Amino acid sequence: LPPVIAIDGPSASGKGSVAERVASHFGFHYLDSGALYRLLAYAAHHQNIAWSDAAKVASIAADMHISFAHGEVLLDGLQVSAQIRSEQMGKGASEVAVHPEVRTALLQTQRNFRQAPGLVGDGRDIGSVIFPDACLKIFLTAAVETRAQRRYDQLLQRGERADYAAILADLQQRDLRDSQRVAAPLKQLPDAILLDTTDKNIEQAVAIVVEAFKK
Ligand code: C5P
Repeated sequence: LPPVIAIDGPSASGKGSVAERVASHFGFHYLDSGALYRLLAYAAHHQNIAWSDAAKVASIAADMHISFAHGEVLLDGLQVSAQIRSEQMGKGASEVAVHPEVRTALLQTQRNFRQAPGLVGDGRDIGSVIFPDACLKIFLTAAVETRAQRRYDQLLQRGERADYAAILADLQQRDLRDSQRVAAPLKQLPDAILLDTTDKNIEQAVAIVVEAFKK
């Protein structure tokens, strides 16, 4: 089986940026599992299905036609990258993600990304549930204030309005929901390497993961 590098951690820890660069360094495929939950929240929203409706949300998960091309996410052939990156869909993703039925419905979709020559996956349960046999597991985190500041800067850069206090409160709430849920709670695995990026930039974090994989 092709090797897997699992990068799990809380929201806005920089998992996506690090995972994508590690993948391109090794020429591996990249799985952004958060995007799948965001897509599902987005699809449900557009079909007037409540995020709390576990059975209905799980049933549409099976019918979603998802593809990733050139950094863009397509749902049924339509580009939805910008739409799913909104704070609203981040919140929706974390609400649909609490349902065990929903997580099960997305399990095989995620496993199908494991293809030669290898895969880098980022999320909350890549190393615990999706690929427990991953050869390298990283728990990527940073202080919640640092993560809030990074998200704030990112929003400003995109020309969007941003409120630091609201972002911080939202991240704290999402951390709590992600770590306290019954289905695949976010936690550092005993076999994962802790990578705290509070005082590190993306390049430093990428270098650490690349070195760890070579060992
Ligand atoms: O990583 P991202 O912010 O895009 O994820 C959005 C939400 O999707 C997270 O807050 C989390 O609740 C959920 N998620 C998850 N399991 C994953 C990836 C994301 O539960 N593997």
